[in-house]
Amino acid sequence: MALNVIMMGPPGAGKGTQAERFARERNLLKVSTGDILREAIKAETPVGRTAKATMEQGRLVDDPTMIAIVRERLMQPDAMQGFVLDGFPRTVAQARALDRIMTERDGGPLIVVDIVVPERDLVRRLAYRRICSSCGANADPFDPTESADRCKRCGGEFIQRTDDSEDVVLRRLKVYEHDTRPLVDYYKDRPTFRIVDGAQAPERVAQELAAVIDSAAAAREPRRAARLPRVDNRMEPQL
Ligand code: ADP
Repeated sequence: MALNVIMMGPPGAGKGTQAERFARERNLLKVSTGDILREAIKAETPVGRTAKATMEQGRLVDDPTMIAIVRERLMQPDAMQGFVLDGFPRTVAQARALDRIMTERDGGPLIVVDIVVPERDLVRRLAYRRICSSCGANADPFDPTESADRCKRCGGEFIQRTDDSEDVVLRRLKVYEHDTRPLVDYYKDRPTFRIVDGAQAPERVAQELAAVIDSAAAAREPRRAARLPRVDNRMEPQL
């Protein structure tokens, strides 16, 4: 059965790390809008050229651009067995568009996981975050062999993301509060909405995440059954 998961949470909550891991373990397509945009910037595509300044300022790229990118990706055949979305939706307009895409795909409901981390932890995590300048992987802050400045996967150099500087981080957190946190209200009453404590060690977060996703996948079944036509004998006309 297709698992369609979105990872929500503020910048630095660990969405990317967890999305990558869960997608690998379950053999699902991972779609990270941040990675797609960073690749577009590197390749100097038209989207990359317009997105660059916006991202460096910690602001959101416009909804029509983001919706077009995600729609194009999720409608491809390899996305039909399920996906893990990291970084989308980030606005209510994007969430509405995603609901429309899901209806078009007709591939089962969305499982929404909100990774919750206190703000003081986020600021600290983002200040220390290093990514590989070549493959984009996060340096593992818990791995002592990666404390050097080279990526274990490809040997690339670890650098700070341009949008992880302190002033841009504060802007991104503000943008999150204003534009993205309202999504919790948008999703919270769905039977497939779950919360995970992201302040724990990554391993623990991964375990909790897998457990809540499985429970959410099971929770959607009764909803389906409820939609089947009901046979109610009391309504039979008396002959
Ligand atoms: P983080 O979750 O740590 O903020 P991302 O890599 O997901 O990092 O995103 C980096 C930047 O890319 C965002 O600050 C924003 O400028 C842009 N971006 C990514 N996804 C979206 C989106 N869905 N809508 C608008 N902008 C986006």
